[in-house]
Amino acid sequence: MTQLFETPAPVLAKTSDGHDFPVRHIFCIGRNYADHAKEMGAEVDREAPFYFTKWAETVIPSGSVMAYPSMTANFHYEAELVVAIGKGGRNIAAADALGHVYGYATGLDMTRRDLQLEARGKGRPWDAGKNVEQSSPLGLIHPLSETGEMTTGAISLTLNGEVRQQADLADLIHPIPALIAYLSRAFKLEAGDLIYTGTPAGVGAVVPGDTIVVSIDGLSDTVITVGQPADD
Ligand code: MN
Repeated sequence: MTQLFETPAPVLAKTSDGHDFPVRHIFCIGRNYADHAKEMGAEVDREAPFYFTKWAETVIPSGSVMAYPSMTANFHYEAELVVAIGKGGRNIAAADALGHVYGYATGLDMTRRDLQLEARGKGRPWDAGKNVEQSSPLGLIHPLSETGEMTTGAISLTLNGEVRQQADLADLIHPIPALIAYLSRAFKLEAGDLIYTGTPAGVGAVVPGDTIVVSIDGLSDTVITVGQPADD
């Protein structure tokens, strides 16, 4: 028996100290800042978080030109803190969660909002709105040994230099240890997994030519330029 075709190499994110971080699975948390849930006309569940997933190959590094995707006229930015898992586990206790964190990065959960809202309205999955090519821009991953545990700190997004999102990590409804505990009940987490932890209020649309910058205290920025639709 022969292998029919080659599988692609893993997506490699970069760390602030020069390592490659192979990306495995991407989990994105929904409605984790109260003001954003409100602007989306959605309820906040303080008892339990919820998540959706994206393919690893949706990751693009900071500095990229992101092709404007197909099938949307309302492509939104969402600035997020991203947690990089360095050690796997199942049923991880929140008290032990920090031991599974490799580090942290800035990132964007880019969203075809029109398709997401259409799906939401029809009770359908969010994949068409969320799991979009190049929709998970990621900054350098800073190791925990450099940052310490991140529980507070300013998070902001500028669009063409104008502040559009501004909050503090302390505003997260479900903090990172709770997210790791929750996700590790749903899945066996593994090294290489990324958790996009949710976005603050102020989401909005981009158009080709726009520049998006995500900043979080203590981390490298994610800088993305929105380009023309892909023509390949
Ligand atoms: Mn998001």
